[in-house]
Amino acid sequence: MSASILDGKMVAGLLRENVSRDVKRWTETGNRKPRLQVILVGDNPGSHTYVSAKTKACLEVGIDSDTLILPDTVSDKELKDTIRQFNNDDATDGILVQLPLPQHIDPMSVIETIDHRKDVDGFHPMNIGRMTTGQPCFRPCTPAGIFEIFNYYSIQTKGKHAVMVGASNIVGSPMAILLSRENDSKATTTICHKYTRDLTRHTIDADILIVAAGSPGLITGQMVKEGVVVIDVGINRVADNQSEKGYRLTGDCEFDSVSKKASWITPVPGGVGPLTVAMLMKNTLLAAKKSIYPV
Ligand code: NAD
Repeated sequence: MSASILDGKMVAGLLRENVSRDVKRWTETGNRKPRLQVILVGDNPGSHTYVSAKTKACLEVGIDSDTLILPDTVSDKELKDTIRQFNNDDATDGILVQLPLPQHIDPMSVIETIDHRKDVDGFHPMNIGRMTTGQPCFRPCTPAGIFEIFNYYSIQTKGKHAVMVGASNIVGSPMAILLSRENDSKATTTICHKYTRDLTRHTIDADILIVAAGSPGLITGQMVKEGVVVIDVGINRVADNQSEKGYRLTGDCEFDSVSKKASWITPVPGGVGPLTVAMLMKNTLLAAKKSIYPV
């Protein structure tokens, strides 16, 4: 078998067109443009790349955005005071603090400082809790984007065995929760992480395998069964002296061997990444419309 490609870039393009149309309708009826405030701490090159992709996407769909760059010496208090100012600013609909943060700052307490009604990343415990219990919420962008892929390609999750490799707060855990909800996705879900013994014992049994470990080539063809649907969330920079930048991006799956056995697979780049950005646009519009948390 040779896998068909799940073209996340294309699906994200369609989503962004929808958001763009909705933003136009929203502003044509007398509302101001939605506005996203990004806070970027320090000079991590990866973070700067992600933030510029997000603000560029905002511009394309008609969302106003601003990026506040703070030095990596910023104190926990200064950062939280800044967030509170945006919480109290009626002209700011969404607030995004780009992760990772410097070592001296606890990311979870920073996320908790964001008003959950402006938490367009969907990381606040209020949104995670509401997601877990099936109530309206801002869903974390990467898991929500993966479900857009499932919907577009009619990939059924009901009754399937979904295996999630990676258990982070921003990807693995929320994805596993969404997959396993009996009233929604209805998958039987296994979560693996770095302490999992014999990873292959779990991955080989997956009908749907989602990998977000940050470990290039972790999953090989020998670790999956014929016909599996593979969602590779990993974005890793690996040294490549053939490339102008000196590196190339690669996923957590060894694409050549895994795609020989899978029925469907996302490429890296061009798979999940563009959907994460598109879902951020969608969440920012929902925040502006007060669709999730009416006032
Ligand atoms: P993280 O470092 O917070 O979490 C990694 C998880 O993987 C942990 O639960 C860890 O236990 C697990 N893990 C690590 N090595 C493992 C191994 N050998 N076997 C089993 N489990 C292992 O990372 P994250 O923020 O969840 O991101 C994961 C990857 O996804 C990274 O490459 C990141 O760049 C990428 N990412 C992509 C998008 C996107 O839009 N495509 C969004 C977020 C993160």
